[in-house]
Amino acid sequence: MTATLSPAAFWQPDEECMHREELAQLQLERLQATLSRVARSVPFYRAAFDAIRFDPDDLRSLDDLRRLPFTTKGDLADAYPYGFLAVPLREVVRLHGTGGSGGSGIVMGYTRNDIKTWANLMARMLVAEGVTKDDVLQITFDYGLFTGAFGVHFAAERLGASVIPISSGNTKRQIKIMVDYKTTALVSTPSYALHLIEAMRAANLNMNALSLRRVLVGGEPFREESRRQIQEALGVTVTDNYAVSELLGPGVAGECLERNGLHLNEDHFIPEIVDPVTLAPLPPGAEGELVLTSLTKEAFPLIRFRTRDLTTLDTGPCPCGRTSARIRRMRARTDDMLIIKGVNVFPAQVEAVLAEVDQTAPRYQLVIERRDALDVATVLVEVSQSVFFDEMRRQAGYRDLLRHRLASDLGVTFDVKLVEKSTMDSVAAKGKVVDLRKR
Ligand SMILES: [Zn+2]
Repeated sequence: MTATLSPAAFWQPDEECMHREELAQLQLERLQATLSRVARSVPFYRAAFDAIRFDPDDLRSLDDLRRLPFTTKGDLADAYPYGFLAVPLREVVRLHGTGGSGGSGIVMGYTRNDIKTWANLMARMLVAEGVTKDDVLQITFDYGLFTGAFGVHFAAERLGASVIPISSGNTKRQIKIMVDYKTTALVSTPSYALHLIEAMRAANLNMNALSLRRVLVGGEPFREESRRQIQEALGVTVTDNYAVSELLGPGVAGECLERNGLHLNEDHFIPEIVDPVTLAPLPPGAEGELVLTSLTKEAFPLIRFRTRDLTTLDTGPCPCGRTSARIRRMRARTDDMLIIKGVNVFPAQVEAVLAEVDQTAPRYQLVIERRDALDVATVLVEVSQSVFFDEMRRQAGYRDLLRHRLASDLGVTFDVKLVEKSTMDSVAAKGKVVDLRKR
């Protein structure tokens, strides 16, 4: 298969198409070096390794990684601002940050080499998504402490594409620039892409006349239905990108044009899938929390970092020729996980069933209560006036179908209540999930 591959299809073909045995050897060498470095220079890891009497020189195989403790966002926040830096601050050339609205947040540092690596890893993704130096990229992510905009920006420049660093907001101006500058690739969250489409429809703009060929999305989990809507409205290819700000930013994983999972840059990150509750490693193919260990970061290397994102890992071959494992597109975060009647449930799963049964993806609210020591779960689903006042039988049929599909897909029985728009308007402010058991 390798002979048919065009070199232009890869940014770093030797790394992206490496044999998996060779990859494992490279990972082991890089892991040993990283563990030695963090044991020397990061107090958190020195203490954690001492506590289990682990000496990085004793590392013999990648499986030994499982003996090591996890790193959580809480650990990073506790060390605010610079407690996790593995190099002196004078070697850091860039600082990004997350959170901070309530607490102080997390500060990530990058050395000159880290910035170069970052641009290469994201450039791999851009090339995999079909971007070339002839493209004009409009980046609608916020330029600031957030890693998204700068991560894509420097990779696109390195690739030789033309970058429009418009940043977020001002939809009218975004559209004018998209038309006038002949943007060919839009970089956006899926929800903002849908918002732009709505705004263009409202302005009666002929979307077929745009130069746009692709939309690179990232920054939030999204549904296949949103991809379909964006592709159809704009006549473009939509590819998904996965960023982990604490580990790098965008460039951790991304889809190739096959769109059958996101290739993870495994020569720079070791992925594991663990049970989000017991933290035990899960067998290949099982869904669980993604845990990542950085292998090449100089300033801010993290060991077994819990991303809180739920996915599966696929190491099978991809027709594109890349040999890296693919993670399934993110649907949910463990932070959103609810345990109802002993079963793990994610609001995104309820959303997926609603979107499948009802093409309009109606608004909903999940209410969980405890009655006589038992969990009772109810889904309020908004229906249009016409359905609401329609014959009772049709309403009942729709409700039964939803109840049946929720039970078979999620393994939990829900009461389904159909409500009018005005009712949903008044309860929506409480959020998509109302868990009354916590009171
Ligand atoms: Zn592929």
